[in-house]
Amino acid sequence: MLDKGQTLTCLTSFLSASLLGMLVAAQLCMAGAVNPAENGLTALRLGSVSVDGRPALRLVVETRTPATVKMLLLSAPYRLVIDMRDVAWQVESLPKKGRLDRSPATAFRFGKPEPGIGRLVIEMDSPAAPFRAFALPPNKGGHRFVIDMADNGRTAFQVAAAALRDSKPIQFGGAEVTNDQRAVGAETKMVASAITPPIPKPKQAKQALAVTPVAAVPKPQKRPNRWVVFIDAGHGGKDPGAIGRAGTKEKDITLAAAIELARQLEGSGQIRAVLSRKDDRYLKLRQRIKLARAQNADLFVSLHADSAVSKSARGISVFTLSDTASDEEAAALARKENKADLIGGPDLGVEDPEAANELLRMFQRESMNQSTHFARKILQEIKNMPGGDERGHRFAGFAVLKAPDMPSVLVEMGFLSNREDEANLNRKSYQRKLAGRLTGAILRYLEEFGPEI
Ligand SMILES: [Zn+2]
Repeated sequence: MLDKGQTLTCLTSFLSASLLGMLVAAQLCMAGAVNPAENGLTALRLGSVSVDGRPALRLVVETRTPATVKMLLLSAPYRLVIDMRDVAWQVESLPKKGRLDRSPATAFRFGKPEPGIGRLVIEMDSPAAPFRAFALPPNKGGHRFVIDMADNGRTAFQVAAAALRDSKPIQFGGAEVTNDQRAVGAETKMVASAITPPIPKPKQAKQALAVTPVAAVPKPQKRPNRWVVFIDAGHGGKDPGAIGRAGTKEKDITLAAAIELARQLEGSGQIRAVLSRKDDRYLKLRQRIKLARAQNADLFVSLHADSAVSKSARGISVFTLSDTASDEEAAALARKENKADLIGGPDLGVEDPEAANELLRMFQRESMNQSTHFARKILQEIKNMPGGDERGHRFAGFAVLKAPDMPSVLVEMGFLSNREDEANLNRKSYQRKLAGRLTGAILRYLEEFGPEI
């Protein structure tokens, strides 16, 4: 009798007894004693889901007991590494490696790089990164965790890889319900139509890596050999933004500056510039982020012009995202800029579904670090502009900077409440000069920190 915790390992061994000139075949069967402390990987499944209209790969890993997992992302080739504590390969008869044909997954393998670690590697043909990981309720004794992955470009991959490298292992399916599991309760409904019901445990080992019979995921388009920079002209349409002493509207200044910056970035030959708007139109803050992510942008630059009660306040400020503001003025400015969304009426989807996601929170922190490097590059470039870098790098909770996997900065190009700044910002020559400095900073940042082109 075999206990449940044991597996039957049978080896067929052909022994040649040359002395007797005859072949003796012997089948050796032994009960492979499984370490009771060791967990087992019992099934793998791949499927497709649609998240915000974009295709994503869903990986479901089934284990006998709840798994503790550390993920890593590596490149050349792109791969997701899933290290599981004390997990052995127990998928009946399925080899420990094989090909996969569900883009971006192309192959898998399982190994033991060190005692106590079971490593599942998924090879990929594009820089897909996990954006959500959660446990499903146990099913017939099997514990399952799910990893959803999508290709959001190489910068998003880099951000995720850096964040995962420094992350602690995730305990799936423990007694505690994580925020991710709660969040997914609602989200599952959203994707339910896009995925097939759970596939019953297959009888044939080769089907253990089942693919769901939904339409094939289109291969991501090949990237042009240029970085993608998203330039967000602040405000627009029914939201004029700040109004200058001479009547200048912030929305007009930001549009002129954005168009000039795009022209110069394109002129570098190394960058494809994408504008949030090319005319006078209203966009919600989240729409701006969505547009940038749809382009797999490597950088997000939001352009604004400030105003203050004090007429003497002037100069350029560079802002990045933070939970806590660097100073009360920055906090007040973020509150003011975030109000742009209220002008467009109530946003029914105002609760950010990504806010509860542990993985994205982790990526967001890494994005904030990288944004700080970018802000420093800008400050170096604007040193001898009017007001220079005196106002420095500051931070606050700007909603428009909340893309979790894309370094983002907001530049307040000057004060419309200051007569000189307002006149400068209206001047073509000044717009060209400022755009030139920002172009220099963007190129310098991307050359040092951006993905290779
Ligand atoms: Zn503004």
